[in-house]
Amino acid sequence: MERSNQRVVVLLGAPGAGKGTQAARLAAARGLPHVSTGDLFRENLGQGTELGQKAKSYMESGNLVPDELVLEMLFDRVSRPDCASGYVLDGFPRTLPQAEALEAKLPSDTTELIAPNLEVDDEVVVRRISGRLVCKDCGNIHHQDFAPPTKEGVCDACGGELFQRKDDRADVVQERLRVYHEETEPLVAFYDERGVLRRVDGSRDPDAVFSDLLEIVSKGEAA
Ligand code: AMP
Repeated sequence: MERSNQRVVVLLGAPGAGKGTQAARLAAARGLPHVSTGDLFRENLGQGTELGQKAKSYMESGNLVPDELVLEMLFDRVSRPDCASGYVLDGFPRTLPQAEALEAKLPSDTTELIAPNLEVDDEVVVRRISGRLVCKDCGNIHHQDFAPPTKEGVCDACGGELFQRKDDRADVVQERLRVYHEETEPLVAFYDERGVLRRVDGSRDPDAVFSDLLEIVSKGEAA
């Protein structure tokens, strides 16, 4: 049987479903790059690039950055050599046109795409996001209640300073959820129709979710 030589994992889920944490673990476990469009935008913002400037107001208000800006940045990233055998996408695609553009770009005969969807209720999302603390230096994620740092305001992993993302504030979270249901949730049906959607209960503890994801992503490889 012909083996695919590129494996693309599209991690779906609402903001706060655990995509960032799980994508990083999955990528490390499978030796694939973790490609987060949110992180790429934040890097651009931090470096004061033109792209960062253009994305800023959308991000801070909880809205989506226009597709053309996202697509150019994303395709540039995944065309680098480290992505040749595959990658884990986190936060992309977020709209149907983005999903269609990705589909058009990937050679269907040599790429295997799988789309695990981390399912969580909106209340869980709000509780998780509003307590989230991110490290300025290494991006490690703590949580006020569920994963508090040993020393307040300091990252356990690298000693960096922890902060709350502007878009993690309560009013912005509501807007992000609204945008998610309107623009991004239709992707669940899109990937389901293609037979590549895998449902994962994302409300459980992170280790249980990770173990399911690893099994889903590893399936088929041994065949
Ligand atoms: P995230 O870290 O994935 O929650 O992304 C943070 C913000 O970056 C989002 O709220 C959007 O404003 C923007 N963003 C990230 N990925 C995308 C995308 N695929 N399409 C549009 N906007 C995005």
